[in-house]
Amino acid sequence: MKITILGCGGSFGSPLAWNRHGNIDLNNKRNFRTRSSVLIEYENTNFLIDTSPDLRQQLYNAKCTNIDAVLYTHIHSDHTSGVPDMRAMSLINKKIIPAYMPKEMISEMETNYKYIFKGEKDYLPFMEIRELEKNNIKFKNINIETFKHNHGSIDVQTYRIGNFAYSTDLKKFYDADIDKLMNLDLWVVGLLREDPHPSHAGFEQIMDFISYIKPKKTIFTHMTALLDEKELITKCPSNVKPGYDGMIIDL
Ligand SMILES: [Zn+2]
Ligand SMILES: [Zn+2]
Repeated sequence: MKITILGCGGSFGSPLAWNRHGNIDLNNKRNFRTRSSVLIEYENTNFLIDTSPDLRQQLYNAKCTNIDAVLYTHIHSDHTSGVPDMRAMSLINKKIIPAYMPKEMISEMETNYKYIFKGEKDYLPFMEIRELEKNNIKFKNINIETFKHNHGSIDVQTYRIGNFAYSTDLKKFYDADIDKLMNLDLWVVGLLREDPHPSHAGFEQIMDFISYIKPKKTIFTHMTALLDEKELITKCPSNVKPGYDGMIIDL
């Protein structure tokens, strides 16, 4: 399995704007982060988790010309609004691309992106919505597990494929769901900033989750410009690291 961190920035990206770079060192390219999205290449199948507003450039940089399925975590714009860029993937491969999403996302996605999912006038649809009905999807012969975690006032899907899992925009887990993340080789988890936020866990809480599930390796994503890469590394054990755009992990 090959995992590419296409983007690891929070909803604003990092830096926030010109001369608004929070705590990051601008001399370190790894502090320049586009909005969060990840590519999973496994058994000749390419899965994309979320369609970041920076998607076109991200897929270009990763030399990716095919996506077999998109797995959506939640409706927030920083995770969905790059969906028009999937048109190129459809055109190149002459196929309609399935987009898995929880029930609560469907009507808003269909309304906001009608031409993509339903077609409009001369434009044929190029993606197809597939509702997550269970905690398990089978795509070709690949088993994908999913469950909801809390993100303040809404829920977000965690996805697990084999011993890799992705949990972005995480405030807390429900009941014993965290136990579904045992025995991971890699956990990619959202860390917005050091302090807790109403919809995102802070550094200490995320470290508590890590101590409990003990993944072999953990990579942070969805970081604001308040988190400098090198400074964050000094606070983490050696198997926990901030991600950077273009980071590749082979499992
Ligand atoms: Zn987000
Ligand atoms: Zn969010």
